[in-house]
Amino acid sequence: MVAKIIDGNAVARQVREECAAITRDLKSRGVTPGLAVIIVGDNAASKVYVANKVKACTEVGLHSTVYAFPADTPDTEVEAEIHRLNADPQVHGILVQLPLPAHFDARRVVAAVSRDKDVDGFHLYNVGALVQGETLFPPCTPFGVQKMLEYENIPVEGQNVVVVGASNIVGKPMALMLMQKDATVVICHAKTRDLAQFTILADILVVAAGKPNLILPQMVRTGAVVIDVGINRLPNGKLAGDVDFEGVRQKASYISPVPGGVGPMTVTMLVHNTVQSALRSVSPMHSPAS
Ligand code: NAP
Repeated sequence: MVAKIIDGNAVARQVREECAAITRDLKSRGVTPGLAVIIVGDNAASKVYVANKVKACTEVGLHSTVYAFPADTPDTEVEAEIHRLNADPQVHGILVQLPLPAHFDARRVVAAVSRDKDVDGFHLYNVGALVQGETLFPPCTPFGVQKMLEYENIPVEGQNVVVVGASNIVGKPMALMLMQKDATVVICHAKTRDLAQFTILADILVVAAGKPNLILPQMVRTGAVVIDVGINRLPNGKLAGDVDFEGVRQKASYISPVPGGVGPMTVTMLVHNTVQSALRSVSPMHSPAS
């Protein structure tokens, strides 16, 4: 068996086209979906991520504004800007680019974002609501994985899902979202004993550990769906995921590559969440998690 490759760029394109159509409709009703991005300090990687988010918004027709603060800005000043944006009806999504400088209490700053504009899904309300399957904004990376599974018509209900990685932004929300879809979910992490005893049971294996070649072919069940969230810069400068792609693709039924898999979905789901927030501002009953 050789796996079908899940083309994250193709899925992202489809989601962005849907977002662009909704955006055109909203604009005809006088509403332009708007994203505000807060960035503090000079983290080079953060600047690239923010530039990518702004570019994606522009391509889809959204309005986006970056609020850049020097690293030594008092946290109260950044929070005051967030409160102003919370009250601005032209802003439908607010995202705080992490990490923040060390003197910031990141949790408090993220908590300052209105839960109704928290397009990253990191506000404690949205994290808690995810447990009940009622979040306003599913976090972008696991939401992107869910969209990839839907795009390929891969059933989740009743499937054994193993999530490798238990971070707050990927592994844990991923597990909750697939449990909500009636999968049987196992979460593994760095202290899991004998990782392979779990991964081999997976009908769907989602890997988000940040360790190249963590998942080898002998750890994967024949016919499994393998989604690789990991992004690792190898010593030769190339990007790689957490999965031995060439080996595992000989056993899996579907596999997502790195690059070109989950990566393009993350920023796309941010655009999606912002457009859904704008849509909800004109039709309050609309659920953004669809
Ligand atoms: P993180 O906060 O560092 O969390 C990594 C998780 O993996 C932790 O739960 C850790 O366990 C677990 N882990 C580490 N080594 C492991 C091992 N040998 N076996 C099993 N579990 C192990 O990272 P993250 O933010 O979730 O990101 C994970 C990866 O996804 C990174 O490569 C990141 O670059 C990538 N990522 C990609 C996207 C995208 O858009 N494609 C978005 C976000 C992240 P403990 O909890 O026990 O420490």
